[in-house]
Amino acid sequence: MEMKEATGSSLSHRLLNGEASKTSRILVHMCCGPCSIYPLKSMLGDRAEVWGFFYNPNIHPHSEFLRRLSSVKTLAGFLSINVILHEEYKPLPFIRHLKASTGEQKHPPKDRRCGYCYGVRLEETAKAAKSNGFDAFSSSLLYSRYQNHEEIKELGVDLGKKYGILFYYEDFRAGWQDGINESKEKGLYRQKYCGCIYSKIERYSKRKEGLKKTFKTNSQ
Ligand code: SF4
Repeated sequence: MEMKEATGSSLSHRLLNGEASKTSRILVHMCCGPCSIYPLKSMLGDRAEVWGFFYNPNIHPHSEFLRRLSSVKTLAGFLSINVILHEEYKPLPFIRHLKASTGEQKHPPKDRRCGYCYGVRLEETAKAAKSNGFDAFSSSLLYSRYQNHEEIKELGVDLGKKYGILFYYEDFRAGWQDGINESKEKGLYRQKYCGCIYSKIERYSKRKEGLKKTFKTNSQ
């Protein structure tokens, strides 16, 4: 784990756990560099003291984990923000618990595995925010059009109540294209699949199916 120095001032709205409140320090879970650009800039624009938090045991394999970690560090440098980084690669406990939580040993389907995956990452962020004296926590997962936005929001609110810390909610999907454009301009690594081994398998089997169809059509 690595920490940099603090900056920033205040934030005063879009807080969700049943009450609106003023806050000055917010810890933001970063799933990767590209998805974090818009949420972080949006909160920095409100002049909050924003820190990043990298905790993503879902990412497979190690080479992919390192690429995403590196893009998070690069972005933190661009934005001059502080980051807390879980740099150890520990995929096995994640996979074991994911299988147990879905009751599926071979290939847990997306609609059953993602809730667990969001939950562990948000929970670690909520705990770190609470124990390090932050006023709120949030996540770049709220930026992605490919994730279950409502489920992430509900989990964040529930975890906020559980740990006694505010969950900062905003529908960051509004900045979808801005985030894509800026990640390209900054040359950040852009991943080709969500993160876990199952999403990697699904992505490449879809690609294989597409290639098979193209080959069949061309040879007719
Ligand atoms: S598809 Fe993405 S969100 Fe769902 S379990 Fe895999 S890494 Fe997590």
